[in-house]
Amino acid sequence: MFSVNSNFDSGNIHLAGESNGELLLEIRQDRYSEYFQWFHFSVSGDQGSKLQCCIRNAGQAAYLEGWPDYRVCFSYDRKTWHRLDTNFDGQNLRFETQLEGNTIWFAYFEPFSYERHLELVGRAQQHDEVTHEILGLTLDGRPIDLLQIGTPADAKPIIWVTARQHPGESMAEHLVEGLLNELLSDSELGKALRSQAVFYIIPNMNPDGSVRGHLRTNAAGMNLNREWQSPSKEKSPEVFWARSKMISVGGDMFLDIHGDEALPYNFVAASEGVANYSAYMAELENAFRGSLLQRSDQFQTEYGYDIDAPGKANHTVGSNWMGNHFKTLALTLEMPFKDNANDPCSRFGWNGERSQQLGKDMLATVLDLLPHIKRG
Ligand code: ZN
Repeated sequence: MFSVNSNFDSGNIHLAGESNGELLLEIRQDRYSEYFQWFHFSVSGDQGSKLQCCIRNAGQAAYLEGWPDYRVCFSYDRKTWHRLDTNFDGQNLRFETQLEGNTIWFAYFEPFSYERHLELVGRAQQHDEVTHEILGLTLDGRPIDLLQIGTPADAKPIIWVTARQHPGESMAEHLVEGLLNELLSDSELGKALRSQAVFYIIPNMNPDGSVRGHLRTNAAGMNLNREWQSPSKEKSPEVFWARSKMISVGGDMFLDIHGDEALPYNFVAASEGVANYSAYMAELENAFRGSLLQRSDQFQTEYGYDIDAPGKANHTVGSNWMGNHFKTLALTLEMPFKDNANDPCSRFGWNGERSQQLGKDMLATVLDLLPHIKRG
């Protein structure tokens, strides 16, 4: 007999039944939304017993291209998350294992808990050069946390980093944790950046969706990354307050951090199709890509999204709105849910630690770019 549980932070699964020794599981939809793909649950049973899981609604999930070559994440201690061979037959997602303890946890990707988010904010705010500000409240009443790093001055470029608009993309907050650890350290890189720039960092744009175990939306079922043109306090306060702050303080570089279900690569999407696109923006994009290729062996530019034709960008997308409004560099950075196919790791796939390292490496690229920034 197995016991299945998902009644915890970012938990998501429904046990629909059992057949031929297989647990029949279903992922719940995001609240007020059709989207689903994120799952996170535990199974308890006798150590040594064979456990077979079948997620039988995988064929209706948001991104079917996410399942081929996907390998499920599992952990016994909730600290180290390994990968397990997984089969997708077009409808059912199956994986099996022999229990090495009484309880095993499974997740779509290595989770980043709300408690860990609070610890990140608490740790960061103890630094002399950090100010913690609550921009507003979410619909579930959680704070929208902003960390300001460095003291604003006329000559200092303003760098924005936002993560986890899509709550199931937990790798995005792992990246921010790695970035913050480096930025607030005594390393030459951290010190140089703190003296030469000001950072505004929102480690989790969508805490409600994160805690609720959503893939893509907030508590009202809104996809925050389609709300930037006209956000509302009633439906998308997370974007409303973040955007208001951006307008009030300005910005010279915007990095919006995401994960991609399908593509097994790290890549950036720029804002080529926005109305105000300029040679300056193109120059910064090229400089960013060129630098990150040097700084990280996990980054590449061969695979990514199709580039929008001139004037055809969707301005409701965060980085497009930011790039267009501030007429400067704004990128969506995507990491894989699966693995980096250019440097695969069968034990861990792409994971939290690799995301953290990419966040640190990205800071070196930010420093490389500072001389290219024209303020105002
Ligand atoms: Zn995303």
